[in-house]
Amino acid sequence: MSEIGKVLIVGGGIAGLVAASMLRDRGVAVDLVEKKRDWQEYGVGIIQQSNIMRAMQFAGLLDRYVSAGYAYEDNVFHDPEGVPVGRASGGRLAGPDFPANIGVRRSKLHEVLKEAALEKGTQVRLGVTVDALNQQPGRVDVTFSGGAQGAYDLVIGADGASSQVRALLYGDKYQPTFVGQCVWRHNFARPDEVDALQIFSDTAGNAAGLVPLAHDLMYMYLVTKEPGNPKMPQAELAELMRARMVHFKGRIGELRREIHDPAEVVYRPMEVVFVTDPWYQGRVVMIGDAVHTTTPHLAQGAGMAIEDAVVLSDQISRGGPLETVLSGYQARRYERAKYIQDNSLRVCRAQMENDHSLNYPQVMAEMLHFTAQPI
Ligand SMILES: Cc1cc2nc3c(=O)[nH]c(=O)nc-3n(C[C@H](O)[C@H](O)[C@H](O)COP(=O)(O)OP(=O)(O)OC[C@H]3O[C@@H](n4cnc5c(N)ncnc54)[C@H](O)[C@@H]3O)c2cc1C
Repeated sequence: MSEIGKVLIVGGGIAGLVAASMLRDRGVAVDLVEKKRDWQEYGVGIIQQSNIMRAMQFAGLLDRYVSAGYAYEDNVFHDPEGVPVGRASGGRLAGPDFPANIGVRRSKLHEVLKEAALEKGTQVRLGVTVDALNQQPGRVDVTFSGGAQGAYDLVIGADGASSQVRALLYGDKYQPTFVGQCVWRHNFARPDEVDALQIFSDTAGNAAGLVPLAHDLMYMYLVTKEPGNPKMPQAELAELMRARMVHFKGRIGELRREIHDPAEVVYRPMEVVFVTDPWYQGRVVMIGDAVHTTTPHLAQGAGMAIEDAVVLSDQISRGGPLETVLSGYQARRYERAKYIQDNSLRVCRAQMENDHSLNYPQVMAEMLHFTAQPI
């Protein structure tokens, strides 16, 4: 073990919670501050692919994680008529007893990760952020919002796309950039036929997917072009979502009739950030969306965040000088996260331009092959 005995994690999302669990398993004292007072997630879903199964196994969280979701094997692509045209499948990287993928409600995933982190002794404070980080020889002095102080061997910024830790390290150099598309999400009852990730497109360059989440539940995501990133009034979200689905045929076209309640629609613009400077300075390091926010076209943002947490914990366990620990972490993560962002943006651009020459199933298959490589 290196000189790291006490860590502060800023951000109680996917990356922060996995890092907290793993560091507690290694005997590190962990404080975690989360900006939200109401520490919850939406009930819509998230796709977790084969490399994430393997990472969760490293993290010692796989059983509870799999039991929170719905297991499936394949990604099936459809043409605008709703006819299946391609398939990409990840292997069972966590072993034959575990599925290749799961679909899981974000709220359930959050509960599972939160429960594990708390059970292992993470000290959590809600409604708190970090105002200042003052690096001293051998420690970081932290000033929290509200004025409290603390001293840590390492601070981990896991505070998402609009990271405050990133701003404290790099000012306003890195800001989330809107890519031109937005995502509309809604849960539905799951018919038996939706037993894999099913990906669709229409003739107007919009995309959609159906993701099984539970025996009786699935979620749909709808990806649309929204030039100028307009603000959508919450009360009109159902109507606006339905209007964007008129060109879809088959199952997606039918689901349009089931969208009535604006409170059931979760709408979000797609943004990207990628830090090309070092992902750490002194005793402060960043993981997850704080350092690389991707678009969700390859469903790997949370995957990269979880792998970051696993690799950083592994580097800390290996010990050695802190510079070696943190540079080793970045070296093991940089190209992988860059590959995901670059290839997600390739799909994004093709959809923006309604360019059907990009072979999406092939991009997905190559990504699954790439992410199957060891971390
Ligand atoms: C529409 C959409 C669909 C997606 N679908 C998928 C998918 O299917 N599969 C997949 O793998 N990925 C997907 N992603 C990406 C995935 O959601 C993110 O990559 C993942 O949530 C990143 O985790 P994180 O912990 O780094 O950041 P976050 O999940 O953003 O968590 C950051 C946490 O830090 C807290 N926080 C923020 N600022 C502060 C602060 N200053 N102080 C303290 N706390 C703070 C936040 O409240 C939050 O709890 C999708 C993303 C979008 C936008």
